[in-house]
Amino acid sequence: MRYLKAFIAIGVAVAVAVIIIIGRDARREAVFYPFGGIPLKVVAYDRSQAEFDEDMKAVSSRVAKLSSELDRHDSGSEIARINRDASVAPVVLGDDMERILARCYRWYPQSRGAFDPTVVPLIELWEGAGESGELPPDAEVDVARQRVGLGYVAITHDGRIMFAREGMGLDFGAIAKGFIADEVARLLVERGVARGIVDVGGNALAFGEGTFTFGVADPSSTRESQNLMGTVEVERGAVITSGNYERYVTIDGRRFSHIIDPRTGRPVANGLVAATVIGGEGVDADAMATACMVLGKEEAMGLLSSVPEVSAILVEHEGEDWRVWASKALQPRLNLSDNWADKVEWF
Ligand code: ADP
Ligand code: MG
Repeated sequence: MRYLKAFIAIGVAVAVAVIIIIGRDARREAVFYPFGGIPLKVVAYDRSQAEFDEDMKAVSSRVAKLSSELDRHDSGSEIARINRDASVAPVVLGDDMERILARCYRWYPQSRGAFDPTVVPLIELWEGAGESGELPPDAEVDVARQRVGLGYVAITHDGRIMFAREGMGLDFGAIAKGFIADEVARLLVERGVARGIVDVGGNALAFGEGTFTFGVADPSSTRESQNLMGTVEVERGAVITSGNYERYVTIDGRRFSHIIDPRTGRPVANGLVAATVIGGEGVDADAMATACMVLGKEEAMGLLSSVPEVSAILVEHEGEDWRVWASKALQPRLNLSDNWADKVEWF
């Protein structure tokens, strides 16, 4: 009898322990579709269902607020109001806007103008060309270029923004996904989530203890097949890719990137088809990945060497040739599939 009691007690204890372990290790997931439908996926470990439900309520309202501030295509957003009014009179900046602009003011000079959130007139010119199917005349490219340059944006000491030229505009397409990932991760950490992942449209940010394994998209595969060129192991931080292979316009049968070289006023065409930046904050990795795409391999490596805490994978496509350059620090952590492994050089 005594043994039976002890046996039951141990059984109950084991069962409770198992439940606690399962409960603690649970991986919970939710998806949101802000910014006109970009999938934002949140993964949290070590959360009860009730805690996670509350977390997701908080994430939902934070993400809705960010969307109402940063989405240029939402006419009621803060950025849309700035783009409408800041050529005429100074516009007061909200906190998030001030913080994302602060990062733009870091990466614009550090990338020597390759990353420039004022490329709007050029984006619109090239989108229009994609719709009409005709290349824009040089004169129109020049006019649009006159309206591009973060140097023509002034922020007053009391937190207001003003454009020095007519027809200017801000676009955070190259930096917002990383910024949002950071913001959502910070919110989750503040709420007590010890480990998790925030993924904004395939751009991920991992936080907490331990390692995370991420797939790196294969830029030679179609959007539908979504192959991976390999996987990378990360200890917290961002894994953010900027690429030409998914979004482009076709003019005269030629593909043009949606990423613009502000220095030429034209879509980038330097052979790089994808740049993945690994490590650090999402906002910085996102800006850097886009800057790398604009700069091309050589200059991208220069930019990357000025930020030793991040690693990168650059993929070049020239004619029939595919080549990969990956940071030496990734050597033990990057597992490329067979058809990519023989194309990699470490830098
Ligand atoms: P993705 O490749 O995931 O679309 P990126 O982070 O490279 O993302 O951002 C591309 C977007 O950034 C473009 O769609 C456009 O809105 C904007 N953009 C294009 N060229 C530049 C540039 N040189 N600097 C900053 N933003 C840019
Ligand atoms: Mg980017």
